[in-house]
Order: sequence, then C-alpha cells, then structure tokens
Amino acid sequence: MLVYKSPQTLTSTGEVMTESLQSHYDESHEDYLLLTPGPLTTSPGVRAAMNQDLSTWDCDYNDRVQWIRSALTKLATSASGYTTVLMQGCGTGTVEATIGSVLSEDNRLLIIANGVYGLRIAEIARYLGIKHDVLDCGELGETSPEMVRDRLQSDPFITHVVLVHCETTTGRLNPLPELAQVVKEHQCCLIVDAMSSFGGVPIDVDGLGIDFLISSANKCVQGVPGFGFVVAREEALAVCAGRARSLTLDLYAQWRCMEDNGGKWRFTSPTHTVLAFQQALKELDEEGGISARYQRYRDNHRTLVDGMQALGFKCLLPVESQSPIITSFYTPDHPAFEFKKFYDLLKAKGFVIYPGKVSKAPCFRVGTIGHVFPKDFERLIAAVKDSMYWLSEAPATDSLSSCPEKVITA
Ligand SMILES: *Cc1c(COP(=O)(O)O)cnc(C)c1O
Repeated sequence: MLVYKSPQTLTSTGEVMTESLQSHYDESHEDYLLLTPGPLTTSPGVRAAMNQDLSTWDCDYNDRVQWIRSALTKLATSASGYTTVLMQGCGTGTVEATIGSVLSEDNRLLIIANGVYGLRIAEIARYLGIKHDVLDCGELGETSPEMVRDRLQSDPFITHVVLVHCETTTGRLNPLPELAQVVKEHQCCLIVDAMSSFGGVPIDVDGLGIDFLISSANKCVQGVPGFGFVVAREEALAVCAGRARSLTLDLYAQWRCMEDNGGKWRFTSPTHTVLAFQQALKELDEEGGISARYQRYRDNHRTLVDGMQALGFKCLLPVESQSPIITSFYTPDHPAFEFKKFYDLLKAKGFVIYPGKVSKAPCFRVGTIGHVFPKDFERLIAAVKDSMYWLSEAPATDSLSSCPEKVITA
C-alpha cells in the first residue's frame, strides 16, 4: 500500500512533481512585508547573499565566521575581554545553551519575567534541573529595580540573574541600565536575553556589566533564521568547561572549537544563513550602525502609532515603557471584529501583522523592525483604514438583541 506517497504528475521537463510542490509553485509569488518580530522583512541584498554553496571545512567560510564573530563583539562593546559564540538553531536554543552551560550545580538563577519569554527561561531551568527562582512581575507589570534589590538582598544564594531586555510579548522595553546596576551591586553574573533588541537598540555590554548577552540572526541585525549568538565576557565563559547539560548546546565547547580552529563550528552550521548574516552586518554598518538603525525603528514606530491612534486604535503599553521594536494594540471593541478577517484583509494588501500574546488583554501586534521604513508604515495605515470592515458591518444579530447600545456607539 502506498500510504506515504503523494499523487504525482510530470513537469514540462518530465520530472516527477508532487502535489504539494505544485501548490507551492502556484503560491510562490505572494509578496508581502513581514511586520513581525523575526523572521522579518530582509533586504534583497541579504536574500541574494544566500545564493552560494560553501563548504564548512573551507577557510573561505570559516574566515567569514571569524569576521562575523568579531563584528558582533565590536557592536556590543569597544572594551577588550569579550568574545562572541554562534550557536545553530532558534533563539530559544541559544538561551537554553547559555543557561545550561553557564550555571554550575551549586549556582542559583533569578529569572526576572514579565511575559512569555521570561517565563520560557523558567521552563528551560526546570527542564535542565537548574536551581532557580522566578520574579514574575506579570505581563503588564514593570520590572522595578527595587523589587530586584529586595529579592537579591533577601536571598544570598542567588548567583546569576537573567532578564529579557525587550519583552516581545507586549513590546515592553525593560529598564536594563537600572536593573543591571542592582545585579552588579550584588556581584551576580548578569545574563540578558536581548534577542529582539540587539542591533536595534544601543546596549553597552561592558558599561552595563553584562556577562552574557543573547540574540539571534533573524531579529534586529536583519538576517534570516538559523542561528543565535552570545556575546560573552571571556573570563565568565572560561570557567564554564564541563557544565553543559547537553552535548549540542555546550556553549563553552562551541567557543573553544571556534577559537581553536579559526571559526569552525562543532557540527554542521547553517552556511546560507551565515552568508546572509554577513551581508546583513555590512548593511547595518552602511546604514550608520546601531544608533542609525535605532532612529529608523523609532521613526517607523512613531509613524505607526500616530497613524493607528488617528484611526482610533489604542496602545496596550504606556509610552514610556514602549520599545520601538513591536507594538501591541487593543483589538477594537466592536462585536463584528475578528482578528483573522482583519489579518487576511491586510495580508491581501501586502502586510502581515502578528496576533497578540497577552493572555489578559485582547490585542494584536505590529513589528517595526526589519528592512522596513516610515513610508511602509504610511502605506500600512492606509491599508488598515481600508480594512476596518467592522465599521460598515452590522453587528451579529445576537449582540444586536443582547446589547443594542453597541450598535450606536460603534
Ligand atoms: C524571538 C525571541 C526569542 C527566541 O525565539 P525563537 O523563536 O526561539 O527564535 C527569545 N526571546 C525574545 C525576547 C524574543 O523576542
């Protein structure tokens, strides 16, 4: 019985083509901007850079890896004593590699959380059997330096603190300088998940005393998915030999392999992603570095928020805690509003937005990072205006009978 085989047809050149491939060919010319927090819209140059096959054993390739490692370290700090390690896989894998390789059996981790990504670190610690405490401030709560100070003062067994810089769940930018200062006052090792901010928001790794900063290829550096990276203080990394709970996620071993073999990864690396990332770093430099990119993202964000507010949408977060990375908007308070329908209308107009991730508030999210510009957000606002179908639609009959006043206020 041919249970696993798809129906086959022949292409014009006589090759066998499966049904799934055919439908892919039909749909391959959908063109839209990804207004999502990674993978995000990349430049034509970044996509073109992948059009080459390189051997992972060849110095051409490994020289590029070394170039990338030192470029990332320079973006993070001008101080000496730092290094960058690249790690295959998704961003969460690199967080897991860091947590699992840095903490010894005697160490204890404090996880400061106000969203999904902070809580995910707690889940990692549970899986790996790492001693930890969670300071959960709630999705809509602020991580205040005072709360962290109290916690560190009352628990002398905490040796490491991890926090999320931009909590992508809501778009909140946590107060990194103030939090870092408290962690350093207590001589703890500081690990920062800067996944969605590094490259798009200035961070002085040495100035803030960050020991390990984690990010990935497909966020603000504007590469494609495939690997994450850690900027590490060398002295802090050098003591991590033998601590890893996983073979493939051994950050220390990966570092030694790259150091000792001129940029060699321990196991097969995502070569095309690496080529794209090198091009992305060159484009970041051409744009004027992180400060120029930060300014563009802020302009994107301003254009988005001004336009959405003019259309009557409300932001989830107060202005002062909002990052320029991703913005959560409350869904319109109208019985006819359905996210899926709104999403499809925007997609047909060339924009892909993101569903909300906050459990207690109905929202949707729009990312402002990637190869996108204020003009794109002006076009988006026009598209949103044309997609507010609920304004002209009569509410569903059940809501008509149950709350007639809604018909008037809508
Ligand atoms: C994107 C992101 C991650 C990693 O996500 P992956 O889907 O594993 O790549 C981790 N933390 C934050 C804050 C993020 O935005």
